[in-house]
Amino acid sequence: MLKIALPNKGRLAEETRDLFEQAGLEVRAVSDRALTASLGGEFQALFVRAQDVAEFVADGAADAGITGRDLVAESGRELCELLDLGFGRCRLVLAAREESAVSSPATIAPGGRVATVFPGVTRRYFADRGIPVTIVPMSGAVEIAPHLGIADLVVDLTSTGSTLRTNGLREVATLLESSARLVAAPAAGTARAPEVTRALAELVAALDSVLRARGQRYLMANVPRDRLAEVKRILPGINGPTVIDILNGGTLVAVHAVVPAEGIYRTIAELKAEGGQGILVTRIERLMA
Ligand code: AMP
Repeated sequence: MLKIALPNKGRLAEETRDLFEQAGLEVRAVSDRALTASLGGEFQALFVRAQDVAEFVADGAADAGITGRDLVAESGRELCELLDLGFGRCRLVLAAREESAVSSPATIAPGGRVATVFPGVTRRYFADRGIPVTIVPMSGAVEIAPHLGIADLVVDLTSTGSTLRTNGLREVATLLESSARLVAAPAAGTARAPEVTRALAELVAALDSVLRARGQRYLMANVPRDRLAEVKRILPGINGPTVIDILNGGTLVAVHAVVPAEGIYRTIAELKAEGGQGILVTRIERLMA
């Protein structure tokens, strides 16, 4: 059995559930409040707070886990990062009041007070730079701290930056960039059973194939045979496009290729300019490495 610690609520939980479902690892919980669930086969989910995932994995209660890189860093536990899942993107930043004289970490007056829900990362950041600050640990709503005189600065997560702006705060530095990660205990230092190692590799391959497919589309088109050289330039594909004869196709042949989703409108326009017809674009469920 491969035990995987997953976030139990919030956006990270929803995106994780979607990813697992697309990878064929659907959550089969007996109730919405179940703390464990089968994911099919030998995979089992343990639902825990995103903040606790790193501890569960580092202590061996789970073989793998999904949580934000920010929370792994804050836990201070050494874990092996197996995949960047691409969602839950945010940055942990140092911010000061708009009118503050602080323009960089080095310009903070000795003893400056920094409010944060990430005291571990913040302490290490300032210690590494030899900047003496006082950490003010909080459990939420740190943006208010400078306005209440509790702190001079904050270290907080930001995604669009609108919460900082709304609260009259200005970014001064980025401590770390984060997104959801699949983590496991470091291979060295754990005596993993061979079946756990195999199941872990299967999990990585299954999730990775869905993540790869998300950025790609499968494109099919009929093109004039005498334009194939130009079409190959437009559709490099993984190994070049597949070219298929069409029964009663006349001068046309069918081409199929995997193409990046980004900029696909340009690809379609280029194919049309070469006489491409009957162009079809579909999503790909999985793309193996
Ligand atoms: P923002 O989009 O910068 O206004 O962020 C909105 C709020 O969501 C802020 O209070 C952040 O602390 C929080 N936040 C943004 N992105 C994430 C994330 N990926 N994980 C956890 N909290 C986040």
